[in-house]
Amino acid sequence: NSSDNAPVGVRPRPVVDRLPKYAAGKPPVAIEGLTSYKLSSNENPLPPIPAVLQAIADQSDINRYPDPLSTKLRTALADFLEIPADDVVTGAGSLGALNQILSTFAGQNHDGKADEVIYAWRSFEAYPISVGLVGAESVQIPLLSDGRHDLEAMAAAVTVRTKVILLCTPNNPTGPILTAEETERFIQSVPTGVVVVIDEAYQEFVRDENAVDGIKLYRKYPNVVVLRTFSKAHGLAGLRVGYSVSGPDLTQHLRVAATPFAVSQIAERAAITSLENFDQVVERVQSLVDERDRVTVGLRELGWFVPEAQGNFVWLNLGENSAEFAGLAAERALSVRAFGNEGVRVSIGEVEANTRFLELCASYTKAPQ
Ligand code: PMP
Repeated sequence: NSSDNAPVGVRPRPVVDRLPKYAAGKPPVAIEGLTSYKLSSNENPLPPIPAVLQAIADQSDINRYPDPLSTKLRTALADFLEIPADDVVTGAGSLGALNQILSTFAGQNHDGKADEVIYAWRSFEAYPISVGLVGAESVQIPLLSDGRHDLEAMAAAVTVRTKVILLCTPNNPTGPILTAEETERFIQSVPTGVVVVIDEAYQEFVRDENAVDGIKLYRKYPNVVVLRTFSKAHGLAGLRVGYSVSGPDLTQHLRVAATPFAVSQIAERAAITSLENFDQVVERVQSLVDERDRVTVGLRELGWFVPEAQGNFVWLNLGENSAEFAGLAAERALSVRAFGNEGVRVSIGEVEANTRFLELCASYTKAPQ
């Protein structure tokens, strides 16, 4: 009955109309004679390790539903992180795990007013969408000029309506980490009834010794929950598997709200196999960290300001030149991610891709300061 595209009168909840659209990283446009590279989604450019591909190929029981509790994966993670398996809740990517946290702890309240979720901005593009969808209100606190969280302003923004605070370390898209010391001080300064999420999607790429390790903090603070993923360091973005780690005060509720069967058995098996071969993962991560450092040093030698880059990406504070720069990258068969008139995020990719990116920067005269 909708073949003539007549309006059927179906309307989404008003909040859905107001949501910003998720603009996923685009694939590069092909240019003759040039290999194209996608540097727009903070993916791992390396193919999965052979044992993971084998484990996926060996799955013969996909006519059955997966274990809704991902027991084997949670047990493997418990061994790996030296924590109780009960503290782990899996999800379809860490974004799935985040959505479970938000829908458990924040939303429209019984008085019709929205709960508040505080996070730094700019940060991960999905935050405003996920917060909006549960009916809660985003309270966005501008980053400091060097791309770090303004923790003082974030603490000052807490009200009786605040239910969740999202910390992103390293911050996507700007790159800096939160230190262990400032994070602990921050947690101590907010009411214990507020859930503090530490999103550590890029944790394995961090080399700053002062960086926070959420796993060390959550045992001490029952309102803290850590997010981690197999999408970045493990290179399994296409399989959608991530998890949250928190104590029983939070997990008892998270388990109720968790999407049943969110992690397929293929994803679960692949994640376990990747953990079993973590030495190979570490080697690959180190090669990307080396490339990140080469790119950062290269940019700084060109006189570009680059915030501390601790993930698998660098941030270029290009302001109103962002779209122009992204266009020039596209002409070289590189897709990068421009965020409005703020800046451009460039993921660390293959050596040749990174070199081509540096060459582009060397020829570009409007260096970010
Ligand atoms: N958190 C941050 C900070 C991210 O950058 C991303 C991916 N871009 C995610 C979470 C979600 O990743 P995934 O759902 O693939 O685990």
